[in-house]
Amino acid sequence: MMGNDADIVVLGAGVSSLMLAERLARSGSRSSRVILVDPRTGYENDQTWSFWRVAPHAFEPLVEASWQRMAWSSAGWRQTIQSRRYPYQSIPARSFFDRALAAVDADPETELRLGCAALSVRDCCRGVEIETTQGALRAAWAIDTRPARAPRGALVQRFAGARIRTGQASFDPGVAGLMESMEVDHHGFSFTYVLPYSADEALVETTRFTTSVLPEGQLQSELDSACARLARGGFSVLRTERGAIPMSVERFASPSARVVLAGRRGGAARPSTGYAFLRMAQWADAAAASIADGRQPPGHPAEPPVRRELDRIFLRVLMRRPELAPAIFLSLAGGAPADCIIRFLSDRATPIDVAAVVASLPPLPFMAALAAPSPRAACAEVLA
Ligand SMILES: Cc1cc2nc3c(=O)[nH]c(=O)nc-3n(C[C@H](O)[C@H](O)[C@H](O)COP(=O)(O)OP(=O)(O)OC[C@H]3O[C@@H](n4cnc5c(N)ncnc54)[C@H](O)[C@@H]3O)c2cc1C
Repeated sequence: MMGNDADIVVLGAGVSSLMLAERLARSGSRSSRVILVDPRTGYENDQTWSFWRVAPHAFEPLVEASWQRMAWSSAGWRQTIQSRRYPYQSIPARSFFDRALAAVDADPETELRLGCAALSVRDCCRGVEIETTQGALRAAWAIDTRPARAPRGALVQRFAGARIRTGQASFDPGVAGLMESMEVDHHGFSFTYVLPYSADEALVETTRFTTSVLPEGQLQSELDSACARLARGGFSVLRTERGAIPMSVERFASPSARVVLAGRRGGAARPSTGYAFLRMAQWADAAAASIADGRQPPGHPAEPPVRRELDRIFLRVLMRRPELAPAIFLSLAGGAPADCIIRFLSDRATPIDVAAVVASLPPLPFMAALAAPSPRAACAEVLA
């Protein structure tokens, strides 16, 4: 450490950083000291992370619910896919944070400094100096996971959600509604995400893919309407969550070779979907292995060229022709085998999967849909 405060200072102690810290804590004795700084003063049960279980993972004991059937719907059309091989799983923030914090607490080489914001990071004498609200810290390397602003004009996935209990049978607990009630208006593409934990309890989220700044309270009022519609009666709110995830293939550049960008700041979120959880877990495994060997942790791997190009095209279509989005998703769900779709959305696509997904958007109906004026007409064109 040679006079440094730590070998690594991690800016931000959110999901990616805690995954790394937990991974380091579980890997046994090591000589590298790590300090995590974060302005937050505690951890709330304010997020739910979901993903397809495309491989065994370290979070299996934390999975609260899983679904083998998933649905997309719009304007009277509904497509459902089923996969026994790759269930869709969901983890509540509370279990994730509790387990990670317990591991960090028991690790003498890791220190979590809450209530401490990083202000700047710069190179200094063969290391880095991090200015924080509690003074300067020196380290060999820094990992920066602080939230970053979306690039100007980028598409952003904005959502507001509530876990609700209805007191009557309102949901089908066998089907995760990934994109229900897809619609398009002057703010862009929107849908409702419904994760039913039982017939009378679900996480309901209204989501928009938009380049606009939404009027104050808009997402909340759309969420209230969606909950009332789905509950078909009264409901109580158990907890809420909200977020904004930039959707862009562009990546931020690190200011220094000694500063590794990680988490969403480092490109953890898949540009076309916003899914980040398992990608961060993979990064945490790789970073922990490097740190254990005394090497600089890596950043997130670059997207393979084909995936990057497909995501770029998809995002361009979403920005320029959002009215096509419902038809595109319904066409995908109805046209490609479920496991191909899931591997494609989970970064595991084989060339055959890519071909199946691309072929699910048949050129002629798809081109016709390009001229269709409304989601309903576009669905009709594509699904006819
Ligand atoms: C509500 C919600 C639901 C999501 N659901 C899913 C999902 O279902 N599946 C999925 O794959 N992904 C999901 N995501 C996306 C992604 O998994 C999360 O955003 C995840 O939290 C990203 O981890 P991170 O480490 O990049 O950022 P965060 O977990 O946000 O960590 C960043 C940390 O930086 C801290 N910070 C801020 N300013 C400073 C500063 N000046 N100095 C130091 N620290 C600072 C923050 O307090 C925060 O703790 C969801 C995101 C949200 C918001």
